[in-house]
Amino acid sequence: ANKWEAQQVTEHLQRWVAYHREQASEGACASYIPALRRADPTQLGICMVGPSGNKVTAGDWEVPFTMQSISKVVSFIAACCHHGMAYVLDRVDVEPTGDAFNSIIRLEMHKPGKPFNPMINAGAITVSSLLPGSTPEQKLHYLYAIFQKITDSAPVINEEVFVSEWMHSHRNRALAHYLKDTGYLDCEVEEALEVYLKQCSIQVNTEQIALIGLVLALDGYHPLRGEQVLPKEVVRLAKALMLTCGMYDASGKFAAYVGLPAKSGVSGGIMTLVPPNLRSQSPFPGGCGIGIFGPAIDSCGNSVAGVSLLKQIVHEWDIS
Ligand code: GLN
Repeated sequence: ANKWEAQQVTEHLQRWVAYHREQASEGACASYIPALRRADPTQLGICMVGPSGNKVTAGDWEVPFTMQSISKVVSFIAACCHHGMAYVLDRVDVEPTGDAFNSIIRLEMHKPGKPFNPMINAGAITVSSLLPGSTPEQKLHYLYAIFQKITDSAPVINEEVFVSEWMHSHRNRALAHYLKDTGYLDCEVEEALEVYLKQCSIQVNTEQIALIGLVLALDGYHPLRGEQVLPKEVVRLAKALMLTCGMYDASGKFAAYVGLPAKSGVSGGIMTLVPPNLRSQSPFPGGCGIGIFGPAIDSCGNSVAGVSLLKQIVHEWDIS
């Protein structure tokens, strides 16, 4: 039996959130579009969900934010579900880069033009182009269905964010044109960009990304539906990519000091998960999904307070 009471876990989280909120001043909200720039940098929230639907939350866990790069995990899984992993891995590699998420420099250096991994923009735009369907709507529909099956909620697009992303997409557009030239896009440049930027603009809160994390923690099994919703081998590959590439060019340090598969986004979200471990003394021996939101990010693009909160959680609860 678990010695932890939900109330006790909540109190720990509330105390740590209050403490790590202070770390946020070392970062700043993403400033490339107004909707992100306007966010209150002192926000910090967390939601943890276990396999029986047991949920603990603290801080600004209900505040909506856009998925941004966290969506790259879902689109990668979606593309693999449709085409099989071999087809997708023929078009995007699984190597970490150590470069910034929107870097252009390495594309031309690699087998010419093959993007390094699906967690950086070049790879993610390629993956978005692979989603099934002949229009952006059809491709997004496939992605939304997977999102909905996991979170039990229909995805909502933040139109303001999407329009600003679209108008500020010069670098992504450059990447997409290069990928089109080298033959890695399965559709037109404008269509791939529309899918990619719309998936980035899906509005979530920490509970929805914690639910996705939970299903990943259980290798694709959805404990609340009692159903395998994603193929095990695809989920395992996605988790390997999260561990090696999920935190942009800080992925190595994050793996060393936190040691959990995670994916961050520039709006300050982090989706992570803890696999089941029956010997664990943590409040979630059956595993859990974790959603975090803290919009002040560091120079790599990761939530400052969020990473700092996670470091404390894995230390206190002996998780890795
Ligand atoms: N939508 C943004 C971009 O593609 C941010 C992606 C991210 O979270 N790094 O540039």
